[in-house]
Amino acid sequence: MAGRSAFVPDMSTPHLSLADLKALVRTVPDFPKAGIQFRDITTLIGHHQGMAASVHHLAAMAGTSGAEKIAGMEARGFIFGAAVAVQMGLGFVPVRKPGKLPIATIGIDYALEYGTDRLEMDPTAIAPGQRVVIVDDLIATGGTALASVELLRSAGAVIEHALFVIDLPDLGGASRLREAGITVRALMEFEGD
Ligand code: AMP
Repeated sequence: MAGRSAFVPDMSTPHLSLADLKALVRTVPDFPKAGIQFRDITTLIGHHQGMAASVHHLAAMAGTSGAEKIAGMEARGFIFGAAVAVQMGLGFVPVRKPGKLPIATIGIDYALEYGTDRLEMDPTAIAPGQRVVIVDDLIATGGTALASVELLRSAGAVIEHALFVIDLPDLGGASRLREAGITVRALMEFEGD
């Protein structure tokens, strides 16, 4: 195309520090409601080196966990989970919102602050005993991650590790996961909720 040079993929090892990555997350106060500090990864994933370094660090963590497959939760867990899976040469299992998969699914209902939600997955996605590592953008109360662990285990997965870009430790989710026997690691933490 006139005026544009040929696409050359950048395969170099990303060199941003974890502090650099944290600085790329945008904080939006009072979204989706008053009092919530929304940690927005749009700015992180829009930055090529930021996205590459995040995936690089998550894949390095997953590499020490014996992962045979990566699972990610809809929707932001897909962004990081699928990229980590590709980087590691593994398959990716999407844990989906209800009604999205065109096959008979297995699912789990779980409590939210107000009401309930549901996650679904392909019951044939995981071989019995396969070691699956969970990847999501953020852990807050841990409700989503704990429900995903339960669902993936019911599909035959062995789950001992969960990885997040962001941990909000004051909300206790990582502690709840650790109490359930899961090793939790995150690239960064933010205080408060
Ligand atoms: P939880 O089930 O409470 O651990 O919440 C997990 C999901 O909610 C994450 O995957 C995030 O996408 C979203 N979430 C919860 N709190 C925040 C927050 N403060 N900023 C951005 N996303 C959030």
